[in-house]
Amino acid sequence: MRVVVPAEVKSGEKRVALLPDIISKLTRTGLEVVIQSGAGLNAGAADEAYKSAGATVCDAGQIAGELKKADVILSVQPLTADVAATLKSGAITISFLSPSSAQDSINAFAKAGVTAFSLEAVPRISRAQSMDALTSQALCAGYRAALVAADLSPRFFPLLMTAAGTVTPANVLVLGAGVAGLQAIATARRLGAVVSAYDVRPSSADEVKSMGASFIELELEALEGAGGYAREMTEERAAKQRELLTPYIAKSHVVITTAAVPGRTAPRLMTAAMVDAMEEGTVIVDLAAETGGNVEGSKAGEIVVTAKGVRIWGGKDVPSQLPFHASSLYSRNVVNLLTLLTKPAAEGSELSFDINFDDEIIDGSAVTHAGLDRKAGK
Ligand code: NAD
Repeated sequence: MRVVVPAEVKSGEKRVALLPDIISKLTRTGLEVVIQSGAGLNAGAADEAYKSAGATVCDAGQIAGELKKADVILSVQPLTADVAATLKSGAITISFLSPSSAQDSINAFAKAGVTAFSLEAVPRISRAQSMDALTSQALCAGYRAALVAADLSPRFFPLLMTAAGTVTPANVLVLGAGVAGLQAIATARRLGAVVSAYDVRPSSADEVKSMGASFIELELEALEGAGGYAREMTEERAAKQRELLTPYIAKSHVVITTAAVPGRTAPRLMTAAMVDAMEEGTVIVDLAAETGGNVEGSKAGEIVVTAKGVRIWGGKDVPSQLPFHASSLYSRNVVNLLTLLTKPAAEGSELSFDINFDDEIIDGSAVTHAGLDRKAGK
């Protein structure tokens, strides 16, 4: 069975789906691994490292032919519809693959008879944690958000006792305490900031407190939805939440926003008026800038400086800004999912696919199979 890893083509994507250190886990079960030359360079993995790990490196001119022959294709971003159309029937792909942004690719996978797995659709159950790329990548984004904030801030994060006097610590406010928010909290705490956080899910309060941050309790209805996710706010509740958070925001030196509701545009947590009420030199990091923005005026991939001197950093391809570890964790997620999908036909024989839809991880994450778009039912 051949596993092929093409170089990522989306601009700004620096991750690679497979790093060399995990390749032996595939090759020792009899799988062959082929990777496009240069695919790992941005993540710190040269072709030589892949060769030493037992993979075959092919050049850009050969990759189309390799993809046509592949049994398994691993990528970070979805393959384009044009590439999907060239794959052989019965092949498997594993990548991020969201119906909201990659429906053309999904249609092409279905037409080609490919079984395409979407990492966004892996159910968030304990057994699937090792395959949960949303979590591993959110972890990278949260860490990066705190470092960006510390870098942009004109202040120290920690309390310092110096001969010239005491430096007071920065007040960091984190809005949205899911996977990314908790990692931002942990990182800002490690840098010595005084951190507080708010989330619409009260169940996040204990996790926030366990990291040495304080949890802001607002007299508002909880929005705990299915699967540990938040529910969408009504506009009335959103306005009330903004009003109640305004005093906390006004006394913060740094605000990091990470709020999201699956399948929806990002909730608006801060209006332009709230940004204007912040002091000069304060920093806002909006991790949701690519999905609509938690903060009015944020722009993905840009630092917007307001007339009052508040800097708003809009996140774009944030996990890619930590390409080595984002790729390392992602590689383990895809290899763990692939392991679930394959088994030897008989003791000691070669691996073959074992696509068992009675398994809720496989059923949940297989978007296309045998000519069907399984989520659309056609
Ligand atoms: P997410 O990226 O969808 O959302 C980020 C955070 O934003 C969430 O904590 C959400 O409650 C919060 N949020 C949404 N609207 C908000 C608003 N208006 N104001 C403030 N905060 C708001 O979620 P995520 O980080 O991927 O995951 C959320 C939770 O899911 C985790 O904390 C965990 O409890 C659960 N989870 C479980 C597993 C598992 O069991 N395998 C894996 C990952 C996550």
